[in-house]
Amino acid sequence: MRTVLGIESSCDETAAALVTSDRTILAQRIASQDEAHRPYGGVVPEIAARAHSERIAPLIEATLADAGMTLDDVDAIAATAGPGLIGGVMVGLVTAKALAMATGKPLIAVNHLEGHALSPRLGDGALEYPYLLLLVSGGHCQILLVEGVGRFRRLATTIDDALGEAFDKSAKLLGLGYPGGPAMERLALEGDAKKVPLPRPLKGSEEPHFSFAGLKSAVMRAKQSGQYADADIAASFQQAAIDCLIDRTRRALASVGPLNALVVAGGVAANKAIRGALEALAAEHDLDFVAPPLGLCTDNAAMIAWAGVERFAMGQSDPLDVAARPRWPLDPDAETVRGAGVKA
Ligand code: AMP
Ligand code: MG
Repeated sequence: MRTVLGIESSCDETAAALVTSDRTILAQRIASQDEAHRPYGGVVPEIAARAHSERIAPLIEATLADAGMTLDDVDAIAATAGPGLIGGVMVGLVTAKALAMATGKPLIAVNHLEGHALSPRLGDGALEYPYLLLLVSGGHCQILLVEGVGRFRRLATTIDDALGEAFDKSAKLLGLGYPGGPAMERLALEGDAKKVPLPRPLKGSEEPHFSFAGLKSAVMRAKQSGQYADADIAASFQQAAIDCLIDRTRRALASVGPLNALVVAGGVAANKAIRGALEALAAEHDLDFVAPPLGLCTDNAAMIAWAGVERFAMGQSDPLDVAARPRWPLDPDAETVRGAGVKA
């Protein structure tokens, strides 16, 4: 059995975890920076990087202490090397390099998106490749065919906003504060999803991608009109988002061969209405539906450690001069889509 220390610092969570090859999370800690960014209504990269640099070393020490371990007990050190806010990524990656150098243990540079993509296998030992993954987070909205470690085919991505971003921006328009996704979901429970006519961008379209910018603008117009209750706007927004997700995922399912499961990951996968709709879609296609436990959906280091476990098992590790990457697509062959120039 192997134990991997995972480090995550690509956005606004500083996190460390110890995960074994038999899928046990021995310890994990997450220091959220929500308070620091709340006044700005979004993540401020410079503030994030500084906070990571202050917190990361004590956080790793505490995580080791929680598990009653020292670095001697660790077999490899995995850290997010991108994509993400580069200042934060550098803090985590350089910390991992220093630990690897001091201990002589192997370094594993993990793609944060691969962390999300493989995290369902940490929660569910029976999940085999290939599976269709819907990766929905604050920075990403992609449908990926996952064929193995490092083997991804991107079938769809967003041409503008990520879904979590649309949740956050719509929440801000409704004055719900930051982060907005969970607040939108709560408010939607009190509203009527049929009350506010909102668009379903790209639904039924020939191209496989997502678009959410128009939906967010429609939320703004609905709010400004003064005609609708906030709860009805939230419920209608969430339903429109679900309709788009289901339509695009159904299209992707029709375009691939046999699969073992439909899987959802990323922060937005915490949304119960979205999970429910995807579960129904999977049942319609006679597919298992797998979603990681809620705590593994949002950014965390257990998923980074687990991706490290999978890579380490394949004999992979990285040199100490491996680069931190602000952009790092899972599928390097995927075409850039129109409008996607601003996304990692
Ligand atoms: P991540 O980028 O993976 O850290 O996920 C964070 C994103 O997930 C943010 O945009 C959140 O607003 C979003 N999110 C978290 N929980 C929910 C939820 N229950 N419903 C919708 N979005 C959510
Ligand atoms: Mg993430």
